[in-house]
Amino acid sequence: MSNYHTKSVTELSVMLQAGEVSSVELTQYFLDRIKSNDDKLNSFITVCEEEALAQAKESDEKLKAGNAPALTGVPIAHKDIFCTNGVKTSCGSKMLDNFISPYDATVVTNMRNAGVVMLGKTNMDEFAMGSSNETSFYGAVKNPWNLKAVPGGSSGGSAAAVGARLAPASTGTDTGGSIRQPAAFCGITGLKPTYGRVSRFGMIAFASSLDQAGPMGQSASDCALLLNAMAGFDEKDSTSIEKDVPDYFAALDSADLDKPLDGLRIGLPKEYFAHSEGGMNSDVEAAIKTALDQYKAMGAELIEIELPNSGLSVPVYYVVAPAECSANLSRFDGVRYGYRCEDPKDLNDMYTRSRGEAFGAEVQRRIMVGTYALSSGYYDAYYLKAQKLRHLISDDFKKAYEKVDVIMAPATPETAFNIGEKTDDPISMYLSDIYTIAVNLAGIPAMSIPVGFANGMPIGMQIMGNYFEEAKLLNVAHQYQQQTDWHTQLPEEFK
Ligand code: GLN
Repeated sequence: MSNYHTKSVTELSVMLQAGEVSSVELTQYFLDRIKSNDDKLNSFITVCEEEALAQAKESDEKLKAGNAPALTGVPIAHKDIFCTNGVKTSCGSKMLDNFISPYDATVVTNMRNAGVVMLGKTNMDEFAMGSSNETSFYGAVKNPWNLKAVPGGSSGGSAAAVGARLAPASTGTDTGGSIRQPAAFCGITGLKPTYGRVSRFGMIAFASSLDQAGPMGQSASDCALLLNAMAGFDEKDSTSIEKDVPDYFAALDSADLDKPLDGLRIGLPKEYFAHSEGGMNSDVEAAIKTALDQYKAMGAELIEIELPNSGLSVPVYYVVAPAECSANLSRFDGVRYGYRCEDPKDLNDMYTRSRGEAFGAEVQRRIMVGTYALSSGYYDAYYLKAQKLRHLISDDFKKAYEKVDVIMAPATPETAFNIGEKTDDPISMYLSDIYTIAVNLAGIPAMSIPVGFANGMPIGMQIMGNYFEEAKLLNVAHQYQQQTDWHTQLPEEFK
């Protein structure tokens, strides 16, 4: 009995290159695993059996021909926010339930060019708005560590699928925490790159100045391999940045194995560790402290820093993100594509009923808040003010990075909560991103890595870096993962 699901992408890539397994065999193995397990999790919206096996066959030919890129033949899953040519792209919404994209997102193209096989499209909060995957038109996703708990959101399907090893890795997007928070809740490693590092072309827009795609995998080394293929300038995205992509995988190596992080200055924001802000749970706090001790033992120095404006992040985000979403989602009008209501009386009836019937409650709430914040007379008071405060938040990080190399903090205040626990209280749901949101407002990269468990549920630690320092973040995470095994643990039910 093969146990390919216990292998990392890094290991699978070596096995494929050595001809120890074929891509067709591997792809079939994961398709079977999805078939026999996903009714428990609901992590996939679409499974692409035929396309995946055809791609796997092509990858096998490339592998045989030699010189195939590292990810050739590795099967992964894409969040259903990425447009995929000929395959349904729903964004978790009834609005796009009938939408078959006529083109690929650049992330999907880049992965395809790297030889990656697409197993399917993963479940997500509707239009990526949510922290629990409960706003999806396709139903809630379950956490593989406890099927009563949420997997986090909005990339909850991508996180649950990797957490249960129904896919070796996946893609996600992060506007306010949607890669890091579900990664933390499902015990996997996830990276949100610097804004502009990965193309947003073909990634359905939520809040354009915050959205960024990134890898979700078992380990930092898997994320490094995936980011190598994902990142890069794209002329089709005007906010994509023209900057060389380093080899993130090669940058994982460190010369000194005893003290691999000698001299690394780790900043600990006092606001994040104060009990007043975010209300960090004591188990989470204990696990973070233990992880920080481990970092100290690896040679790092812990330095208290200040991010004085971090308390503004959640309010600022909940003006900026809804404002941008209200503009982005105006394209879904029942005219050009997506859902159209039946028997509209007139044009106005068609607009209002199509949108009213196809958007869920959370999406409608955000569109209303955003439209209000952008309306004349209120623009200066809300949107403009939020943008000014956003600068203060970015400046806090810039100042901090003059003194430290990376910043560490919890990814979430608590472990995964139960399904239904926060659905009637949007504010308490919004607070589950209290530690992740400032990063998106500033545009810096950050990741979440597993650092322990509380009552059987995974705990994630966040590592934030300065602009374009993904290689450093991945290295810092990788060194920790060389010495600990939190990231290799599997939920009992999916062993
Ligand atoms: N939970 C946050 C929200 O609902 C962030 C979502 C995201 O990063 N896409 O807006």
